Amino acid sequence: MTKYIFVTGGVVSSLGKGIIAASLGRLFRSRDYSVIIQKFDPYINVDPGTMSPFQHGEVFVTDDGAETDLDLGHYERFTDTSFGQVNNVTSGRIYQEVINKERRGDYLGATVQVIPHVTNEIKSKIVAATKQFKPDFQIIEIGGTIGDIESLPFIEAIRQFKSEIGIGNAISVHCTLLPYLPTSGELKTKPSQHSVNVLRSYGIQPEILVCRTSKPIPKTEREKLALFCSVPKDAVIECRDMKTIYEVPLALEAQGMGSVVLKMLGMEDRKPDLESWENLVNKIKNPKKSLKVGIAGKYTKLSDAYISVVESLKHAGYADSASVEIKWINSEECVDYASCKKLLSDIDAVVVPGGFGVRGIEGKLNVIRYARENNLPFLGLCLGMQCAVIEYARNVAGLKGANSKEFDENPAYPVIDLMIEQKNVKGYGGTMRLGAYECHLKKGSKAEKAYGKEIVSERHRHRYEVNNEYIDQLSKEGLVFSGMSPDGMLAEVVELPKLDWFVACQFHPEFKSRPDKPHPLFKGLIDAVLLRK
Ligand code: GLN
Repeated sequence: MTKYIFVTGGVVSSLGKGIIAASLGRLFRSRDYSVIIQKFDPYINVDPGTMSPFQHGEVFVTDDGAETDLDLGHYERFTDTSFGQVNNVTSGRIYQEVINKERRGDYLGATVQVIPHVTNEIKSKIVAATKQFKPDFQIIEIGGTIGDIESLPFIEAIRQFKSEIGIGNAISVHCTLLPYLPTSGELKTKPSQHSVNVLRSYGIQPEILVCRTSKPIPKTEREKLALFCSVPKDAVIECRDMKTIYEVPLALEAQGMGSVVLKMLGMEDRKPDLESWENLVNKIKNPKKSLKVGIAGKYTKLSDAYISVVESLKHAGYADSASVEIKWINSEECVDYASCKKLLSDIDAVVVPGGFGVRGIEGKLNVIRYARENNLPFLGLCLGMQCAVIEYARNVAGLKGANSKEFDENPAYPVIDLMIEQKNVKGYGGTMRLGAYECHLKKGSKAEKAYGKEIVSERHRHRYEVNNEYIDQLSKEGLVFSGMSPDGMLAEVVELPKLDWFVACQFHPEFKSRPDKPHPLFKGLIDAVLLRK
C-alpha cells in the first residue's frame, strides 16, 4: 500500500519546498523504495504553459507532453524518475474537470460545491497518480503559503484524505522559516508557531517541521518548536542555506529525517545508500577547474526562467569536477554586433536557449554568428536551433532576409515555418508539439558520438520547424542535419562538424539531464571547453 506525505509551506513563499520534497524523495530512493512526487498548484491557469516565464519561471515538459511547474524538474532530477501530467495539478484543471462533469450532467442535478465536488476531484488526482505508478511513497507538495485563500480546497482535500486513509498511512510535513534577528542575535520561532496554528485551524496537525534557517537552531528553540507545534523533538528538522541544492538530501538524512518519516508511516527502515550522492556533492563542493558559460536569452533577469538549462550545464561540469559559472547575456544588448562581441569576449561557451517571439532575436543571431566565426563552443536549444539555421542561411548560404515566420509574416526566405499540423491550431495552452519524440542521428556525427547511439528520445515544445525546402541548399553549404524525426520529415539536430562544438537541437535536452547523469549534448559542450583548457 502506498504511503502519503503532504508537504505544505508557511510564513513566506520561496522557501524551497520543492527542493525539500525532492530531497525527501531521494531519501526514499536511496533506501530502494519507489517514490513519486505530485505538485498541486492553487492558481487558476489550467497549466503553467501559458504563463510568462517572468511570472512563473520555466515551463518544465514531461515525456507525456505535459507543460508543468518547474518543481517537476527538481523532482525528476533528485529522484531520477520520469513523471507526467498526473504529477502536476492546478486549481484550473480541477475546476475545468468539475465544470465539464457538471455540463455532462454527471452530478445528477446536485448543487456543485467546493466540498464535496472540488475536494473529491482533488482527491481523485491523488488516487489516479497512485494507480498509475503504484509507488511505495507518494509525496504531494501544495504550492503557495498556508493562509492563502486559493489553496484552501487543496488543504481541505488533504485533511479529508488523511483521515479517510487512517493513522499511519499519511503524514504532513510543514516547511517554515525561522527569521534571524541580528539585533537580539536570535532565531525566532513565533512565525512558525502561527503558521502551524493556521494549519491546525484547517484540521491538519503536521507531524514534521522542516525549518529553513540561516543559522543552526539552538536546543531551546528546537524544544520550543516541538512543544508549541506538537511535534516530536526529532521531527524538528533544520534546513540551512547550502552551497548546493544537491546537499539538502544529505543534510536531512544527517538529522534522521528519513528514519523519522519511515517510522511514522510504519515502514521498514533500510540502510540508505547515499554513497554516490555524497561523491557527487563532494565533487560539487571541491571543483578542480572552472569555466564560464553564457546564456543568451531574453528572460535573463529571472534565472528560474532557464533553471533546467542552468542545472544541465552544472551537471555536465560536475562529471569533470568543473564548476560552471553562468554569465547572463541579455540578447537585446547583442543587437549591436560590437557590443555582442564584447559581451562574449570573456566566456568559454554559449547557449542560446528556447523562447518565443521576436524580441531579442537579432541579438541571438549575432551571438550565433560570433560563435560560428570564432569557434566558440555553442549549443542551441529549440528557438536556439531555429536561430542557428536562420543565421547560417543569411550569412553563409547568402539567403539575405531569411527568417522564421514566427518573426516575419512574409520573409524573403522562410527557412523556419509553422509546422503543418499547427496551421489549424486555435488557442494556446497544450497545443504545441509537446513531449517525447524519437530522433534518428547520423552515424559519425558529433551528436551521435556524444549520445553513443543512433536513436534517442527527447522532449519537445514548439510550433515552428525547419522548412524542408531549404534543407538541401543549407546542407550543400555545409550545415549538417545530423538528427531527423524517424520519418525524415522534421529536422531535429544541426551541427557544424569542423568547429569544436556547434550543435543545436529542436528538442529540449535540458529536461532530461540528471546531476549524476549529465545530458550528452551539454556534456559535449563542456567537454569541448575542457579539452582546450
Ligand atoms: N518559438 C519557437 C517555436 O514555437 C521555439 C519554441 C521554443 O524554443 N520552445 O517553434
